[in-house]
Amino acid sequence: MQYYSTNHQAPIATLEKAVVKGLAEDRGLYMPERINKLPKTFFDHIQDMEFQDIAFHVAEAFFGEDIASDELRKLVYDTLQFDCPVVKVKDNIYSLELFHGPTLAFKDVGARFMARLLQYFIRQEGGKQQANVLVATSGDTGSAVANGFLGVNGIHVYVLYPKGKVSPIQECQFTTLGQNITAIEVDGVFDDCQALVKSAFMDEELNRHMRLTSANSINVARFLPQAFYYFNAYARMKQQGLADNLVVCVPSGNFGNICAALFGHEMGLPISRFVAANNANDIFYNYLQTGHYDPKPSMQTLANAMDVGDPSNFARIVNLYSQNGALSAAETHQAITSLISGATYKDEQICKTMRQCYEETGYILDPHGACGYQALADLLKPGEVGVFCETAHPAKFKEKVDDILNIDVEIPTRLRAFMQGQKQSIPMTKQFEDFKQYLLKQ
Ligand SMILES: *Cc1c(COP(=O)(O)O)cnc(C)c1O
Repeated sequence: MQYYSTNHQAPIATLEKAVVKGLAEDRGLYMPERINKLPKTFFDHIQDMEFQDIAFHVAEAFFGEDIASDELRKLVYDTLQFDCPVVKVKDNIYSLELFHGPTLAFKDVGARFMARLLQYFIRQEGGKQQANVLVATSGDTGSAVANGFLGVNGIHVYVLYPKGKVSPIQECQFTTLGQNITAIEVDGVFDDCQALVKSAFMDEELNRHMRLTSANSINVARFLPQAFYYFNAYARMKQQGLADNLVVCVPSGNFGNICAALFGHEMGLPISRFVAANNANDIFYNYLQTGHYDPKPSMQTLANAMDVGDPSNFARIVNLYSQNGALSAAETHQAITSLISGATYKDEQICKTMRQCYEETGYILDPHGACGYQALADLLKPGEVGVFCETAHPAKFKEKVDDILNIDVEIPTRLRAFMQGQKQSIPMTKQFEDFKQYLLKQ
């Protein structure tokens, strides 16, 4: 399969190049040149298949030309060492729980898949040169990437994070791992971390010395595997006879997760329509209403993993529905709004939703999932059944959730284990020269 750039100014890339590079030369996002439909027989029998097997068939449609079938199956099964179950919350509203992975958020799926795919490519080359992943994080991405790559041979991960600016729970998820993960505590803010990573990728001497790779969320190897769990959600709902008029609602920030769901739809997954739930960062919501895409600086909210003012994957969504540029902006907008609706919720409403849902059903929503749940409560029509993504475990935001619901959320054992680990990190200034000298010595 070949990959083209959403900006159409870069050469076509192989899967390996798209994965190793992340971003195309023209700063566009890579898109697969084709989206293969899955056969009718697959959907006829999907309810009898297990999650990993379903995921393997989906993966084959994207990666089957580039990876041998038995290798791909191993890769998928090894990625999905945890379930993504669908749980009834009330009446016709169901939660697709994406928090059963190592760092309790959906990003585990993409990060684990990418780590194993990169390892596969290194092995293919004879495994001579170690790959080094550099990732800047303000919290959640670092933990998902670090844990996704933990113990994967041939790859070393450097996580750069701003000193004193990530929560203690987040920090322990990437500073206590050891093995092939190094945490670098930068005396600066998130933007300084990101600047160090960017400078490293551009530094010729450093790139001669070591092989550098990014594990950005826009990477096709992190973004496409997120389609896996939507197929599983459909299968589990179909098993219960509830899949005839299914609405999928995704709490969205950078729009990678919902974009993967839309790719699934293009592959034939029978979802009636989609809802993108925003927090107060309502750029996509406004686009749906007006047809104008108007990025803004992001605002801080309770659902902070969705605090994005210029969602990268918007370009992918436009590409998908403009038939690769053949349709006008108005026609594309029409195509998008006929399939996707939006919602936006301020912090006050998020708190209210969390309380209401807890009182009515006993289900504990995290602030991100709360946006999804509320959007279904507001937008479902009679006869429709809705599934929203619960994108993180409420214990990841324990202080907020305890405070809002006046409870003591139980911390899952795997999160507790991180909290008992020994913090190890390398202190670093925000000067690129210092970071470079450090890397040159590795
Ligand atoms: C990253 C994240 C989101 C947003 O997902 P996108 O793919 O960026 O739209 C939502 N909730 C949680 C908990 C996240 O970590």
